[in-house]
Amino acid sequence: MSELRYCPNCGRNTYVEVKINWIIFIVLLICGVLLGLVYLVYCFAAKTKVCEVCKLKANKMEPPRFNSQ
Ligand SMILES: [Zn+2]
Repeated sequence: MSELRYCPNCGRNTYVEVKINWIIFIVLLICGVLLGLVYLVYCFAAKTKVCEVCKLKANKMEPPRFNSQ
């Protein structure tokens, strides 16, 4: 369910992904499995999408460009 967008930072089309801070996730997971899962659910619920390459926020990205040249 990845979405293709044009990333001005990368200068090419990239897929966006849900922004998850894996360090926070792992720390919470160590504190308690439930805490980690709650954070994961929160990340997906917040739907903060970022460029999967450079982590630029998706709202700064443009529709995908398909150059025929
Ligand atoms: Zn990018």
